[in-house]
Amino acid sequence: MIGNLQLTWPSYGIENATYAGKSYFIFHTCTVDTGLFILYHAYQAHSDEFRALFTSDALHIYTVIRRTFQLVETEGWTIARLYWLTEHNLLTNKHSNGKYDLMNTMEAIVFQFVKPMQTFPIKSQCSCNVCPKRIREHTNVDISLMKTNGKFLNFLPSFATTREHPCRADLGSVKPRKYPEKYSIDEKFPVVDIATNITHIQKRYICEANRTVGKAKFLHQSPFVIVDVGFDPAFVRDLPDPLYIGEHTYNLSAAINNTNQHFTAMIKAQDGSYYHFDDTHHKGCISHDGRILVELALYVLQM
Ligand SMILES: [Zn+2]
Repeated sequence: MIGNLQLTWPSYGIENATYAGKSYFIFHTCTVDTGLFILYHAYQAHSDEFRALFTSDALHIYTVIRRTFQLVETEGWTIARLYWLTEHNLLTNKHSNGKYDLMNTMEAIVFQFVKPMQTFPIKSQCSCNVCPKRIREHTNVDISLMKTNGKFLNFLPSFATTREHPCRADLGSVKPRKYPEKYSIDEKFPVVDIATNITHIQKRYICEANRTVGKAKFLHQSPFVIVDVGFDPAFVRDLPDPLYIGEHTYNLSAAINNTNQHFTAMIKAQDGSYYHFDDTHHKGCISHDGRILVELALYVLQM
C-alpha cells in the first residue's frame, strides 16, 4: 500500500520462470525490480490523462512501458520483468550454472531506456561570424539538479535562460590574420591524432568571442524525467518538489538509494508521505520519514 494505492510489486529474484519458451534463473534483480516499480507506481498513481501520454507513438519506449505494465496486470511481475529484460537484450551475463546475473547500474538496466523521453537539443552560436565552429548543435538526455549555497534550486537554469560563455573553438596552429574577435594563445592545447589516437600538446589559437547557448527545451512531452541528484547524495525529503523545467512543472515521485550494491527506492505518495520500497523486504513497501540518501530521482509531469 502506498497512500491509498494498492499495488502488486516484484520480489527479489526470478527462479525457474518460463518466457517465450525459455527458462530463466536470474539473481541481483534489484535494479529491474526497483527501477520498474517506481515507474509503475508513478504510472498508476496519476490520471488517465497522464497515462494517455504513453499512447504517443513518437518513441518506442512509450509502447514498451505500456506493454510492461499491461503484463504486470495480466501475467504478473515475473513475465513483465522478463519482457523488459529480453526486449532490451539485457540478459547477457550468464554464469556457468546457467543463471543470469543482473548486477549493474540503474542506468544500464532501466533508466537509459527511459531517458530518450527527456531528449533536449542544445544549440549554441559564436558571435564571431568567421568562427570555424560558429553553430554547434548536439542532443543530451542527462539532467542534474543544481545547488546554490548548499540548497537545491527548484528549477533547471539551462531550461530557464540563455547562457553565455567564451567560445574556446580551436582556430588552428597558425596565427589568425585579421580575426574580427578576441582570441587567445593556448601553449598546451591537446590535439588528438585520429590515425594513431595519440594526444599531442600543441600551441593553438583559440576563439574567445562570446558564445550564446540557447534555452534547452524537451523535444517530446516527457511524462517522466530522471535526474541526477548531483555529486553528493542527498536526503529524499530535501529534493525540490515541484521542480520547474522550462514551462513545465514536475513533481517528485521517487528516488533511488544504493547501499552496498543493493538498490531500493523512496516513493513519495501524493499526500507527501514517504515509503521505502525494498524488493527483499517481505512487505515490499514500508512507511519512512524520508531521511535516506538518494542519488537519482524520478519526476513526473504535472498535468
Ligand atoms: Zn568562436
